[in-house]
Amino acid sequence: MYAVELDRVTKSFEANTPVVNHVSVKVEPGEFFVLVGPSGCGKSTLLRMIAGLESISNGSIYIDHQQANFLPPSKRNLSMVFQNYALYPHLSVEDNITFGLDVQKIKKYERKKRCSETADLLGLTDYLKRKPRHLSGGQRQRVALARAIASQTPICLMDEPLSNLDAKLRAYMRSEIRKLQRKLQMTMIYVTHDQIEAMTMGDRMMVINEGEIQQIGNPIDVYNAPSNTFVAHFIGSPP
Ligand code: ADP
Ligand code: MG
Repeated sequence: MYAVELDRVTKSFEANTPVVNHVSVKVEPGEFFVLVGPSGCGKSTLLRMIAGLESISNGSIYIDHQQANFLPPSKRNLSMVFQNYALYPHLSVEDNITFGLDVQKIKKYERKKRCSETADLLGLTDYLKRKPRHLSGGQRQRVALARAIASQTPICLMDEPLSNLDAKLRAYMRSEIRKLQRKLQMTMIYVTHDQIEAMTMGDRMMVINEGEIQQIGNPIDVYNAPSNTFVAHFIGSPP
């Protein structure tokens, strides 16, 4: 299990105000860590810097205690699930799930095994031969999750993975993701703008506003003792 450490991580797109400002936090190995804050507060930018998809303007990222600022995404031991699925439309569900495993040069037998196991876990066994366009939104999102799970990376990053699902499926998927993360002992960094999701899923949560940390703590503590009025309003703490 890997730790992910951020040390004064900052991102400015132009010379003007940073969209992520001096963020320092240590995500513990095997922890389910939630980044929560309103739209536009810098969550995706922060996650993309951890993934190596966005450069860092200032500060450092450590993955498993190694300086990772300049590591390419493929060397960071992580998988990522995006809000808009990012499936390959021309590939079957099966090939979408195992795509990353081909790249990792994992043997065919092992690929088949991981694919059938994750498909089983996520209820996709009957859909393996279909193309993404013949799936519902919920099924597509499960394929995206299956791909991340099948890669069995020690770290998983998720960016609002449930926001396109209806309320019932969202509640079900929350508990499925939690179960999978525990079972596979992944270090999870999970982005959401949804307070309920943060409260119910996180071992700890980090509340962000305008690129800056407002509070870090376990959800009960943050709810009961918000550190400022922004957090109190955002989380809906009792006055
Ligand atoms: P969130 O995921 O919390 O909604 P983002 O990280 O997507 O927020 O965006 C944070 C801020 O950075 C927003 O003001 C957004 O417009 C800006 N931003 C994001 N990506 C870019 C980019 N590539 N170039 C310029 N500004 C960007
Ligand atoms: Mg975002």
